[in-house]
Amino acid sequence: MTGFHTRFAPSPTGFLHLGHVASAFHARERAGTQGKFLIRIEDIDAQRCLPEFEAALLDDLAWLSFVSDGVVLRQSDHLPYYRATLERLRDQGLLYACTCSRAQVKARALGVAPDGSPVYGGRCRGRTQAPGQPHVWRLDMAAALSRLGGSPSWREIGQGAVAGRAASFGDVVLGRRDNGVSYHLCVTCDDARQGITLVTRGADLFEATSVHRVLQELLGFPEPLYAHHGLLLDEAGCKLSKRDGAESLRALRAKGLTAPELIALARKALDLAALIPAGRSADR
Ligand code: GLU
Ligand code: ZN
Repeated sequence: MTGFHTRFAPSPTGFLHLGHVASAFHARERAGTQGKFLIRIEDIDAQRCLPEFEAALLDDLAWLSFVSDGVVLRQSDHLPYYRATLERLRDQGLLYACTCSRAQVKARALGVAPDGSPVYGGRCRGRTQAPGQPHVWRLDMAAALSRLGGSPSWREIGQGAVAGRAASFGDVVLGRRDNGVSYHLCVTCDDARQGITLVTRGADLFEATSVHRVLQELLGFPEPLYAHHGLLLDEAGCKLSKRDGAESLRALRAKGLTAPELIALARKALDLAALIPAGRSADR
């Protein structure tokens, strides 16, 4: 299927590796010649995102001939917009300020969310006024889900309807302590405002879709389709990651690999990854 508006949304926290090439290729291919492929820089984490990584990733993408069919949106340029959107949720009475430290959240966690973060125990729930001390803003998930009549499902290409499991995330942080915004908030805002009709990304974000669907419904945003691709694994069967030193595109380029060779490699790896379908198996 072609004609979709897709996006590749890397965070400049390191150099791109083969997994990113695969992700960009997946987005580019799903857009086809009729659609639009958009590049977005997800750099709200000022501690971890560096300008030199952004410059390198834009250079790598240009080298691969993955060109954005529209302006490259840099999230750090739009913080007031995300904060204003968060305000709309606060006006709906669905947010509360949480002053718990990371250690307290962890110690009183109700469990582990699908993204590996602790499920917040709810100590600060109901605190709707901003306290005079550092705090995050959390979504009151139970209140949100009761308003929506349950966790919204989504449509995954090749799978059909997938049941939402937003409750398993609990009261997610929507406004961080440092900048007042969050990944879940910004990604939802931008997919809507960039007119993304097919969200293309790795299977590691499959479950997070439940949270994004909740935010889309609360904010009155359109519902995109989703196509999560399988993750590229290293020899040990672990997800390729910058942190663990997956060989960077820079290094592969320096070794003399050409762009078509790299894209072919990424394609092959994606085909292999597709053998482990994105999503849930009965016992997962
Ligand atoms: N910025 C995220 C990442 O680098 C991707 C977010 C998304 O595709 O929703 O993993
Ligand atoms: Zn708290």
